[in-house]
Amino acid sequence: MTDVVVVGGGPAGSLAALTLARRGVRTLVLDTKRFPRDKPCGGGIRHGVYRRFPDLADYLRSTVAIHEIRRVLMESPSGASVLADGGAPLYLTLRRTEFDAALLARARAAGAEVREGARVAEVLRSAGGVTVRTVDGRAFAAKLVVAADGVNSVVSRAAGLNRGFSDETLALDTMEETDLAPADPETMYVAYGYKGYPGYGYVFPKRDCVDAGVGFLLSFFKRELGGAPYAHHARFLEEARARGIVHGRSNAANFKAYRLPLGGPLPRTVADRVLVAGDAGGFVNSYTGEGIYHAMVTGEHAGVTAAEAVASGDGSAAGLARYESRWRNEIGRELADSLRIQRRLFTRPRLADAIVRAAAADPKLCRLLARVALGEEDFSKRRLELALRFLLARFRRAPSARRGAG
Ligand SMILES: Cc1cc2nc3c(=O)[nH]c(=O)nc-3n(C[C@H](O)[C@H](O)[C@H](O)COP(=O)(O)OP(=O)(O)OC[C@H]3O[C@@H](n4cnc5c(N)ncnc54)[C@H](O)[C@@H]3O)c2cc1C
Repeated sequence: MTDVVVVGGGPAGSLAALTLARRGVRTLVLDTKRFPRDKPCGGGIRHGVYRRFPDLADYLRSTVAIHEIRRVLMESPSGASVLADGGAPLYLTLRRTEFDAALLARARAAGAEVREGARVAEVLRSAGGVTVRTVDGRAFAAKLVVAADGVNSVVSRAAGLNRGFSDETLALDTMEETDLAPADPETMYVAYGYKGYPGYGYVFPKRDCVDAGVGFLLSFFKRELGGAPYAHHARFLEEARARGIVHGRSNAANFKAYRLPLGGPLPRTVADRVLVAGDAGGFVNSYTGEGIYHAMVTGEHAGVTAAEAVASGDGSAAGLARYESRWRNEIGRELADSLRIQRRLFTRPRLADAIVRAAAADPKLCRLLARVALGEEDFSKRRLELALRFLLARFRRAPSARRGAG
């Protein structure tokens, strides 16, 4: 019998399976897709992922075409902009097809069994364990299940942890991984509060292509924006092209739109015999939309906790509660702050504007903002300094709307 079934072989599921298998726990990963599979995504991840997962760093560098980004051009709703340049690499960009396949292969090499083309439809829990059933009628028994099945998670619903994310807590995000050429391959472009809407636009240069798209809160999109997602996406790219940020034109064949949870983690992420990781648990930075890193972190914590539960024989929600303290200790504050920041910025485009202008006038503020967005600095701890710098910079005249920050 399997000890733990991991549903989903994305970054959350692969890290959970890798962690479990390395501890000698019999682990089965079920994924509806066959790898390499694509996942609609910008494919950007903070450089700190190497520091957080040192045992994966060399492996990823040698198996995935990873591109290093050194500068971020941030633009406000009114078009003011600032270039953050920390000197060192800030961000990594990659193709999810390659990255996810590499992580899953690593879990497999560590001893996890992987069944592809296995779409989970049902999870039945009892005092003795769980039974996971696929749409084609296969049944897999285990002691525990890790829900790593993404934003539309079937497992977290079956466990009563989520009745489905509401439109207010979701974004509709678009992406196009395509052969546009960036003006500067080492600079990513983020239009925060694009057009004054609650959302953003992004252009991420990669090793051999560009990934670009827009995202809007789903409630806003349905209520006020409407239309075809591709029309908004193509307009954003056309504007970026007209302003020289990219060269070439959008290719509709490469376009995808998907949902992204932006409302913070679920109130409970464990139930009897169930742990929820990654998008399934809402683990995404609410204003940057970054979720790959958080999926990996929560996947690893879910794996550690599940391995302990298998060893102790206690798969109850109380026994699994350590998972919640673990992820809270590491990323809880960042995620809570990110939701507060999102709520302020998405409802007040003028604030986003004032922040970008202030950052253009104060290189230290600019660098600090970039470091907070990348999880390198704790917003709560630097809040006073940020507020003071912001106020001081507002009283200074920015010599130009666009300026480097060292
Ligand atoms: C357009 C867009 C752009 C984004 N850009 C970025 C970015 O630049 N950087 C970033 O960090 N994050 C970005 N994100 C978010 C990021 O993609 C997610 O946070 C991340 O993929 C979460 O990983 P995961 O493992 O939890 O889920 P996923 O990557 O979604 O993996 C879930 C897996 O579960 C499988 N699955 C689903 N249902 C079932 C089922 N019933 N049975 C079996 N298997 C199932 C799926 O096939 C999939 O392989 C973006 C999201 C979108 C939509």
